[in-house]
Amino acid sequence: ATAAEPFDLKAHIRGVPDFPKPGILFYDICTLLRDGPAFRAAIRQLADLVRPHAPTALAGIESRGFVLAAPLALELGIGFILLRKPGKLPGATIGYNYALEYGTDRLEIQADAVKRGDRVVLLDDLLATGGTMAAGIHLLKEAGAEVPLAAAMIELGFLGGRARLDAPFAALVSYD
Ligand code: AMP
Repeated sequence: ATAAEPFDLKAHIRGVPDFPKPGILFYDICTLLRDGPAFRAAIRQLADLVRPHAPTALAGIESRGFVLAAPLALELGIGFILLRKPGKLPGATIGYNYALEYGTDRLEIQADAVKRGDRVVLLDDLLATGGTMAAGIHLLKEAGAEVPLAAAMIELGFLGGRARLDAPFAALVSYD
């Protein structure tokens, strides 16, 4: 495989002030997804980031994580595991509750999603405080996976979220 061509990811990501509430600068990846060549270039950059960790499967976090993890799994030729909001997955599941700024949230995985010896890389669009990614790592490990890497397209470096993660972390771009 060849390295991805030079490509300015930040030029394709839009910052929307005061969304979804005042004081939050929301990093909108819809502008990237709408642009076919840019979307493909970003997935190839993620593939170069993730491939050296030799994953046997990829996991994505609902819902923008899915948008990136599914094409990345296809690019890497490995399977895709869904970490979902409560009550969406059929059959036996394992769940994990985690704290938000206000209230709590929960992620679930199918209990039989991980096979013995699986090396599962976890992907989300953006790492902020790290609470969501930390929950995903916890769930994957509880399901029996090794987690050689958690990855995001975007990291809000000033929030220090990577320090909360019980796995190595990498992102394509960081904002401070
Ligand atoms: P956190 O658990 O604080 O790391 O938040 C990460 C999750 O919330 C990710 O699934 C992101 O999609 C979303 N998120 C948090 N902050 C932002 C932001 N400033 N812009 C876009 N998405 C965000």
